[in-house]
Amino acid sequence: MTDLTRLSAAQLADVLAAGEVSSVEATQAHLDRIAAVDGDVHAFLHVSDEDALTTARDVDARRAAGEELHALAGVPIAVKDVVVTKGMPTTAGSKILEGWVPPYDATLVERLRAAGLPILGKTNMDEFAMGSSTEHSAYGNTKNPWDLDRIPGGSGGGSAAAVAAFEAPLAIGTDTGGSIRQPGAVTGTVGVKPTYGGVSRYGLIAMASSLDQAGPVTRTVLDAALLHEVIGGHDPHDSTSIPEPLPALVEAARQGAGQDLSGVRVGVVRELTGEGYQAGVQARFDESLELLRGMGAEVVEVSCPSFDYALAAYYLIMPSEASSNLAKFDGMRFGLRVEPAEGPVTAERVMAATRGAGFGDEVKRRIILGTYALSAGYYDAYYGSAQKVRTLIQRDFAASFAQADVLVSPTAPTTAFRFGEKLDDPLAMYLNDVATIPANLAGVPGISVPNGLSVPDGETAGLPTGFQILAPAKADDRLYRVGAALEAALEKQWGGPLLAQAPELG
Ligand code: GLN
Repeated sequence: MTDLTRLSAAQLADVLAAGEVSSVEATQAHLDRIAAVDGDVHAFLHVSDEDALTTARDVDARRAAGEELHALAGVPIAVKDVVVTKGMPTTAGSKILEGWVPPYDATLVERLRAAGLPILGKTNMDEFAMGSSTEHSAYGNTKNPWDLDRIPGGSGGGSAAAVAAFEAPLAIGTDTGGSIRQPGAVTGTVGVKPTYGGVSRYGLIAMASSLDQAGPVTRTVLDAALLHEVIGGHDPHDSTSIPEPLPALVEAARQGAGQDLSGVRVGVVRELTGEGYQAGVQARFDESLELLRGMGAEVVEVSCPSFDYALAAYYLIMPSEASSNLAKFDGMRFGLRVEPAEGPVTAERVMAATRGAGFGDEVKRRIILGTYALSAGYYDAYYGSAQKVRTLIQRDFAASFAQADVLVSPTAPTTAFRFGEKLDDPLAMYLNDVATIPANLAGVPGISVPNGLSVPDGETAGLPTGFQILAPAKADDRLYRVGAALEAALEKQWGGPLLAQAPELG
């Protein structure tokens, strides 16, 4: 029998719809895979066997009764632990939320349940989604399935690793500065950050509310489009949710797979290539551009000079918003409560003791940075200036999208680095997001498509690289058209998916 964990979500949906396998079998196959390899990978913080199998049984019964089901009904999924799930522990990778069980489902989780996707469990992440390597999780490192000595990216390393290790065909991530796309790039998976407001934020534990977006983590572009259509669309619970319907994403992915890009203008962002990008990453990027040209796309160069300041602006805006969002973790309402070791038990002292014990170093660093940037005397110099830079970045995007339908760059400047390599140098860690952050600051959508293995360097046999495609707000369909075309052209060269080349686990 075929190994059900090797099928894409679309393939699994087909065999489920044809009645060749049941959702219970498909779900159990993934739970078995988790049991077999997650001891090494550590993608999951919580595995919800019972919950998943209950959904699977329900879907099977409804299918047997002849009910019309959603296309992805019965296909299991993993959810990043920053998304609240009713009755299922949710920690956001932090000790401060250890043991907290949310009383409600995020809107996107409600939609997954309504469509009949069994939830396999919650995936590991950098604490409160702060990081690029998942090393800032309070619950240990997630390993990159391509090389267990290396990081799976972050903050959503758990979701990316789960999908790359065939523990789940689909996962949910969140992307505030790149946490879906960069893990996608370094694990050879597909990651999409939708247009800001395209997927409800209701029930996401907020890091930076003006930047956060949830989105799909998958092995194929088509799977991402299918999942995006399940979770996306207007939600009255989120005041920033876009009221209009989503563009036709699945249709765009299917069109793209036909490998005809004539009439599509592709803009290479000058500021997001060249210096600072590993030679192997740059080489794969240049080859992918050739493939796009070969399919009829017109490739032009565009310049976005303000992108040079995106990282600096992000690291003022994001900590500022985070310092405010994280104020609610005070030992009174959620999870951990620590009383002072000695002296009076006042509210303020309980808060200090709880936050001191419950937050990790990176979270504390950002709360301090954000509080400082927002303080009365410095507000204009720091937060105010960063907001002005944000406007300039939005203008650069607008000007570039007048010249090109999509913009492209490598997703991340490097391949997966080793554990510990950047842990003592926050700035080096932050630099991994240079190419992904501008999209969050402007609210535009982006996708990372696996586009090869970096040149073997003697030390590694080659590690995955990612190709980033950006589109104007509300034009997420363009990501899928161009992404699916590139994926199809690359897989023709490779003779199959990139992940087929990953080493066997277990
Ligand atoms: N790595 C970036 C940060 O540390 C982005 C995180 C994210 O997108 N959640 O803030």
